[in-house]
Formats: sequence, structure tokens, C-alpha cells
Amino acid sequence: MARIVMKFGGTSVADLDRIKNVARHVKREVDAGHEVAVVVSAMSGKTNELVGWVQNTPKVAGADHSIYDAREYDAVVASGEQVTSGLLAIALQAMGINARSWQGWQIPIRTDNAHGAARILEIDGGEMVRRMQEGQVAVIAGFQGLGPDNRVSTLGRGGSDTSAVAIAAAVKADRCDIYTDVDGVYTTDPRIEPKARRLKKIAFEEMLEMASLGAKVLQVRSVELAMVFKVRTFVRSSFEDPDAPGMGDLLNPPGTLICDEEEIVEQEVVTGIAYAKDEAQISLRRLADRPGVSAAIFGPLAESHINVDMIVQNISEDGSKTDMTFTVPSGDVEKALRVLGENRDKIGYDVIQNESGLVKVSVIGIGMRSHAGVAATAFRALAEKGINIKAITTSEIKISILIDGPYAELAVRTLHSCYGLDKS
Ligand code: ADP
Ligand code: ASP
Ligand code: MG
Repeated sequence: MARIVMKFGGTSVADLDRIKNVARHVKREVDAGHEVAVVVSAMSGKTNELVGWVQNTPKVAGADHSIYDAREYDAVVASGEQVTSGLLAIALQAMGINARSWQGWQIPIRTDNAHGAARILEIDGGEMVRRMQEGQVAVIAGFQGLGPDNRVSTLGRGGSDTSAVAIAAAVKADRCDIYTDVDGVYTTDPRIEPKARRLKKIAFEEMLEMASLGAKVLQVRSVELAMVFKVRTFVRSSFEDPDAPGMGDLLNPPGTLICDEEEIVEQEVVTGIAYAKDEAQISLRRLADRPGVSAAIFGPLAESHINVDMIVQNISEDGSKTDMTFTVPSGDVEKALRVLGENRDKIGYDVIQNESGLVKVSVIGIGMRSHAGVAATAFRALAEKGINIKAITTSEIKISILIDGPYAELAVRTLHSCYGLDKS
């Protein structure tokens, strides 16, 4: 007997038939004698619809650029998961399984006050565990929690993954299975590169980089929690026949295990390629080349919660003037330009330029730590395809390259094949 947390994403609960199919996956584990908690997302497309409604609400009279109250955003967008948790509990009951739905506030899943992007602080799993021990399946609405203001909070897009891993840690589950519309983590997004290969295992550090550099198969925070709390997390498909052989395997279920790097026997130099669309580049021209200029630029941007990523500063020819170029998400360009405009006197630039619609493509692999020439291989391969590089950043286990948007798919495929990741 084991304790298992099963999470089902939006496409897995997209309609009543798929919810019935999910119920069959749950039944398989219940019939095997396991204690089960289930975490569900909203039906696919639902959260986008809810977010769209909120974004189209009229602005508060007199407000300059505030768009809406984040507490009410959460009140609206958390509703999608409420629906699917209830529907799945009903589907399970119809199969004769003792099941009960739970909203974030009922458990409660305590979060901080950052409405719209809250972090889980504490989960009181006591009552849930007691009921699981009595054979009741807990069906939990993912993505949502309860803020310190006793209002519903949400965990940021893709946050149900994080709900699942956090609950698995809180109830000391033996395993957390993230069921989605692909059968595991691939060497790159299989929708972009059909030659991508499924990985049997991927190290926490690599999955963290993949997720934060754009692979949306897991929310970044869920990987952090799995790493810190040592939650045995698998990514697997909900579309496979729930009763196919091996689906109920306790130790080696089909899918990809996210694990410590020591568990990976054959470590490749490069494990995967990720990409993030909608990057924008801002350049400040002819800045004074003096101490404090970076602080004058990036301080106000940070205070405005603008996430600056790649930063490139040119060396000034005569030691007096320089250019600074950096990237921000496309959605933040207007805000960034406004903040920089407001601070123009303090920063002291001549002109400001910006370009949207760029893409960041990244090469990820723990093996890079001990191999030279990984970056040069990427640059050569991209050059051969005529793809121009706008900026580069590197760390111990990744290389990120900024390119023009229209080249995204070609760049992903080129990098995927130049490191021999294509399936044979
Ligand atoms: P869910 O709704 O189940 O949470 P998501 O859409 O959030 O599912 O995540 C699954 C999607 O992530 C896949 O359909 C796939 O297109 C995408 N994806 C991006 N990179 C990868 C990768 N390296 N491996 C697997 N899937 C990936
Ligand atoms: N439904 C939420 C979203 O679309 C949470 C999730 O699916 O993980 O972002
Ligand atoms: Mg997701």
C-alpha cells in the first residue's frame, strides 16, 4: 500500500468524457489498495477565458495604470478548478468510489499575499490524511490557496503542478504523478520537434532550467518543491489506457522521473532544448560610462517588478559613453519604457530603442559542467542556418541565445539535432 498524489492538467479534464477517463486512472490506484489524493486543473482554455474576462473589465476611474484588483482576479480565475474538482468527485462517486472535493481554503493551503502569483507557505493535511486512511479519495482544486487576508489566492499560471507537489510533500506521499497530454518530459517540446525523445529520467537541476527557460510541462515552483522536499515526481500521460499493462506499476510507472542527478546513470552532455517566446529587447544608447549607471537603470525596473533577463553592456570606445541592452517579457515593455522615461535624468541616456517578438532558445545539460565547446557547437549550427544571434547568456549548465521570433522553430530543431538529440 502506498500514498499517491495524482495531478491532472487542463487537457486531461477538458470535458466530461475525459473526466470519466481520469476517474478510471484514479480507480486503478484505489483498487490496488493505495491511498489517493487527486489535484485537478481547470478544463483546458477555461483559465484563459477567465483571465480574459478580468482583463476586459473597465478601469477604475482615476487610476492611471492599475488594471484591476488582484484579489478579485483571484476570485474569478480560481473558479475553473472549483468546477473540475466537483465534477471529478461526482464521476468517482458514480464508479462507487468514496470521493470528496476540496477547495484550497477548505484544507487550507495557506499562501502569502501575492495575489495572482502566490507562494504556498503551509498545508494542513491532517483532516485529508485522516479521511484518506479511511479510504476516501480527496479531489483537490489545484492552483488556489488561502491568503493571509483569508481570501482565495492563485499560484500563477501552471500552478496546479505546484499544488500537487506541495500536497505530496505535506501528506508525505510516496509518489506524485503529473498526468498531462504528453507521456513524459522530452528532449524538447514534441509539438515543435517530432524527433524529440522522451527522457526516462531528468535531474532536478535540469528540469528547473528547462521549466524556467520555457518548457511549460511543469511549473518552475513545482520542480523547486520536488527538489527540496524530495518528492518522487513522475510526468506521464492521461491519454493512455488506464488499464494497460504497467500503468499501475508502483516503482516504475511509464513516464519521466524527475530525480537527483546521482540516479541518472548515462548522463548526456546536453539533455534538452527549451524556448521562450515573447521576449523583448530594450537598448539605452550613449549612456555615461560611470559607476552607478546600472543601478540607476535596473533598480527602478526591479522596484516595478519587471523581470530583466539577459543584459549586455558594450565597452565604450573612449571610456565616456556606452550602450546597455537587456531583455524583458514583451508584456512588460510599455511599463519598462515608462519607468525608464521617468528616470531619464538620473540614468542619463541619449535614446531608447526597443524590439518585441524575439525568442530565447536555450541548451540545457548538467554534462556541460565538464565539457568544453558546447556553446561553440550551437553558434556554428545556427550560423550555418543563417540565424543571427542578438544576445547570449550562459551558466554552468545552460546556454541561452536570443534570436528573431520567426526563426524559433528552425533554431530549436537545429540545436536539437546538432547535439545528437534526434531520435534515430
Ligand atoms: P497541463 O494542462 O497538463 O498542465 P501543459 O500544457 O501545461 O499541460 O504542459 C504540457 C505541454 O508542455 C505539452 O503539451 C508540450 O507541448 C509542452 N512542452 C514543452 N516542452 C516540453 C518538453 N520538453 N517535454 C514535454 N512537453 C513539453
Ligand atoms: N488552470 C491554471 C492555468 O491554466 C492552473 C494550471 O493549469 O496548472 O494556469
Ligand atoms: Mg500545466
